[in-house]
Amino acid sequence: MTKKIGDFHLCEECMLLYREQSWAEKCEEWCRERKSCNIEITKHAVPQNGLALSK
Ligand SMILES: [Zn+2]
Repeated sequence: MTKKIGDFHLCEECMLLYREQSWAEKCEEWCRERKSCNIEITKHAVPQNGLALSK
């Protein structure tokens, strides 16, 4: 299950943040099944340093 953090959605498998829940869900599905990351999905993630700057 993805977790909502402020305006973002967290993939609890790889701890990446997404603006859109649909991407977070896709990521988590992939992470859980493949135990790896899909660049086509993770490129939609919010950069951790970008997040820090926006606060
Ligand atoms: Zn993930």
